[in-house]
Amino acid sequence: MLKVAPILLAVLYGLVMYRFSVWRTKRELDERSTELADAGLKRLMDRMAAALDLPRIRVFIYEIDPVNGLAAPDGRIFITRGFYRKYQQGEVTGEEMASVIAHELGHVALGHARRRMIDFSGQNALRTALALVLSRFIPGIGVWIANGLTSLLAARMSRSDEYEADAYAAALMTKAGFGVEPQKTLFTKLEALTQSRAGAVPAWLMSHPKTAERVAALEALEAKWGA
Ligand SMILES: [Zn+2]
Repeated sequence: MLKVAPILLAVLYGLVMYRFSVWRTKRELDERSTELADAGLKRLMDRMAAALDLPRIRVFIYEIDPVNGLAAPDGRIFITRGFYRKYQQGEVTGEEMASVIAHELGHVALGHARRRMIDFSGQNALRTALALVLSRFIPGIGVWIANGLTSLLAARMSRSDEYEADAYAAALMTKAGFGVEPQKTLFTKLEALTQSRAGAVPAWLMSHPKTAERVAALEALEAKWGA
């Protein structure tokens, strides 16, 4: 029984961290966001809403500079001020913005947004528990192995989430009449941005698989759909 105690403590710690991070994320987003009011983008989003049989799609602007889109655990979709600025400056088209919103809608619809928060705290709990157990048998490198294993698992899970969200967005963009092209051109644009400004990697790319592989996956879908 005593041997199980550290593991139970680790799981408990994970649960507490989870509640805390959900609360903190929600508060941060509530304080620093407003609903997007852009007539041009609204027309595009209304077309996606119609394709989904929804009255409308609500999107919020999150007041930070890094180029990013995110889906909160409560299902709200956010575009950062930095991303919206790229659209206002004409660097990113309305259809390309729509493809980001479609991708984030995919994370919500497929249940990733909720699961990801659980993953994050679940990861902490797993990491702590593994480290505790492994350290008993292999002192010193036990923690290191626990970290490696947990990160590997997390990376695998988030990669497949990204491909699923891309596929969802491709289907929605096709149904709304935009086609898959804006998704592909956006990936290429964001990657060019990464190369021209070393060190300024858009956050949205950092948490996602390689551009070439994502474009290839989209083209495979297009070929399958005969687009
Ligand atoms: Zn994503």
